[in-house]
Amino acid sequence: MEHKAIGQSAHYVVPLRFSSQQWHGVRAAPARAVRAREVRLRDMTGREERAVSSTNTPDALHLIDALFADEELAADRPSQSAQHVAKSSSPRKRASTRQTIADEKSRFSAADLSASDRDRLMAAIYQRTFGDRIESTLTCAQCGNPFDLDFSLTALTRSMDAEPSVAYQVLEDGSIETSDGLRFRIPTGNDELAVAGLPPEEATSMLYERCGYPATAMETNHFEAVLDEIAPLIDLDLTASCPECGEAHTIEFDIQSFLLGAILGTQRQLLTSIHRLASAYRWSLDEILSLARNERMRFVELIEEDLPGDSGYGRSVSV
Ligand SMILES: [Zn+2]
Repeated sequence: MEHKAIGQSAHYVVPLRFSSQQWHGVRAAPARAVRAREVRLRDMTGREERAVSSTNTPDALHLIDALFADEELAADRPSQSAQHVAKSSSPRKRASTRQTIADEKSRFSAADLSASDRDRLMAAIYQRTFGDRIESTLTCAQCGNPFDLDFSLTALTRSMDAEPSVAYQVLEDGSIETSDGLRFRIPTGNDELAVAGLPPEEATSMLYERCGYPATAMETNHFEAVLDEIAPLIDLDLTASCPECGEAHTIEFDIQSFLLGAILGTQRQLLTSIHRLASAYRWSLDEILSLARNERMRFVELIEEDLPGDSGYGRSVSV
């Protein structure tokens, strides 16, 4: 795993394909609001790692919301916020500017993003936090021998950027119109949450209805097929062959389970690193949890290097 150097920028930018007017609207013209945008995220800290409790969608949404670098949003608009504040001495104007910035902040919600954009963000969070390699050891169902699975997340996400075979245009209100005349809205996290827990058929028809898709017009899997083309997910079957016996295996991979699973898998090591840092530097829990993950790991490494002999979990530990 590649460790990030201390002192690097704590923010990174992830381009999106579909963004929602709900949080870009108001100031942006409708045509601009639906163009591909980008989201600025900050590095993950122990606080977000501790908040993850499952691999479910609400946890994924919560994580993205927590990492959204909202202070950057205000800093990005000097003409409308910071400069305005500097020039204006009126307390009321300052207050209203603060209110506007607060409105902008509250406008971002990961639940408003399409699942496709949410997956892009989660892939970027994984890469930034754990590196680009997806590595795992599987046991061959045929011969029982362990074998390694190793692939690049970059290569995987690149396949999402292939030109869709479905011709479509994005309309002013952000909805999609395909060349065969279908008009609908790309489902968001809010749509998923609204139908969660319903029986599958009911959930599907309610999702269609929410997105304005004519459910009766087409066979049921058509919508999914169109969405796969226009707004693909990082949810796919990977194939790998056992090097011992050649047996082909299919491995289901979805980025949400993988990212949240990786965080859940290192929560015990987070406790260990909190213990190390608190013992060595006397930092408070709050201070330690505020450190970016890679920075925290680097400090733990430095502490380990000072320890006499082999501590048993030195440089290669994933904390
Ligand atoms: Zn085998």
